[in-house]
Amino acid sequence: MAVYNPKSLKAEEFINDEEIRATLAYAEENKNNVELIDQILEKARPVKNGNGCTCRGLTHREASVLLACEIPEKIQKMYEIAEEIKLAFYGNRIVLFAPLYLSNYCVNGCVYCPYHMKNKHIARKKLTQEEVRAEVIALQDMGHKRLAIEAGEDPVNNPIEYILDCIHTIYSVHHKNGDIRRVNVNIAATTVENYRKLKEAGIGTYILFQETYHKKSYLELHPTGPKHDYDYHTEAMDRAMEGGIDDVGLGVLFGLELYKYEFAGLIMHAEHLEAVHGVGPHTISVPRVKRADDIDPDMFDNGIDDETFIKIAACIRLAVPYTGMIVSTRESEDVRRRMLRVGISQVSGASRTSVGGYTEEERPHDTEQFDVSDQRTLDEVVHWLMQTGHIPSFCTACYREGRTGDRFMSLCKNGQILNCCHPNALMTLAEYLEDYASPETKETGYKMIEEELKRIPKDKVREIAEKNIQDIRSSNRRDFRF
Ligand code: SF4
Ligand code: SF4
Repeated sequence: MAVYNPKSLKAEEFINDEEIRATLAYAEENKNNVELIDQILEKARPVKNGNGCTCRGLTHREASVLLACEIPEKIQKMYEIAEEIKLAFYGNRIVLFAPLYLSNYCVNGCVYCPYHMKNKHIARKKLTQEEVRAEVIALQDMGHKRLAIEAGEDPVNNPIEYILDCIHTIYSVHHKNGDIRRVNVNIAATTVENYRKLKEAGIGTYILFQETYHKKSYLELHPTGPKHDYDYHTEAMDRAMEGGIDDVGLGVLFGLELYKYEFAGLIMHAEHLEAVHGVGPHTISVPRVKRADDIDPDMFDNGIDDETFIKIAACIRLAVPYTGMIVSTRESEDVRRRMLRVGISQVSGASRTSVGGYTEEERPHDTEQFDVSDQRTLDEVVHWLMQTGHIPSFCTACYREGRTGDRFMSLCKNGQILNCCHPNALMTLAEYLEDYASPETKETGYKMIEEELKRIPKDKVREIAEKNIQDIRSSNRRDFRF
């Protein structure tokens, strides 16, 4: 039987079933242990350290106790601390991005995804480079600067060369004042050699959702195709890092298995990356199973309600305070608003989850991967974020300044990154307001910028940011960054 070892490179040892079961039993036993819960909450709290803050995070066992706890006032405390951490490390900024679906050809049999090979209802489509260009122009015309590209797994239709061509095309398009400055990639688990090629193509984060950490369920949910190989899939992030990719993004598809099991597995995966590579995940995504062609979420009996979902997000925030957290347009405006308060740092906006969706007037359903709950335009999302007290940020500075992997994490851990994020958010927001916003959003945005500039503590940084924003307003000069 496999023995738990976070430093092992074998899936069954770092995501160890026996350890997860022991964790869940420990969490259940202690879910009313107020003394222990208070200690864990205290450990999670950010502490002042010079000009910034530090956080110790939580182990998978500690975080699982909090997730199991059902005492209302302790849950309230979790939310408060999650918000404290969020404000300490991310302030009131929210980074925006959009997914770009390249191809829905797929040889896998994932039972929760309409792109699975046996689905004959769905139209199969793969973008040509001309179509990629058109989609990118449409995305730039909305104001997007950061994309996550998505493609099914199909060695014939979507080989790595196709993905690399698409990345090259995306970076080459500069329409009006627009450009895409960071391409994150969400494609199937692959080889070290292919990860190296992605790195050379200049990708930002490599994202791969585990879907479920429960091996038996994983094998049933992925009955056919290369994705059936649980170990190969689970060990993908180690290969990505071996291939030179510094930033990796984890995620679970909540609803497939029991959420407490998934949660423990997810935190163990983060601990494993930290133990082996010295740097944890750059982001964690929290998607839930959604309705789509051929897919009814009620088929999966582990669906979670909104309250539980928000509690999971808060517990992730407490356990891995330095990791960005992403929520997509799978979730409604209401859920997204609540998630923002407990630690989400990135949201997608105006997403089309179909291949070629951005160049079509009407939201197309025939090739969608899942139904989008939040169907607002990017301008509406930007305006809404500001109304809820958040600065919408289109910043991509770190990756372009070489602040990735452990370099990024060390700046993040000693609080220095804040000196970049805040002015960068304001400058990229000014670009958005100048080039793409509606008059109403523009007015609200510039008021916010004026107020937020006053909050930049260092005089020199404030002066530079003010000058750059004036330049953005009075000329076509763009892409200022700290
Ligand atoms: S989840 Fe990914 S691998 Fe599975 S069927 Fe859908 S596109 Fe293919
Ligand atoms: S400065 Fe870096 S961490 Fe901050 S928002 Fe920009 S890219 Fe993200």
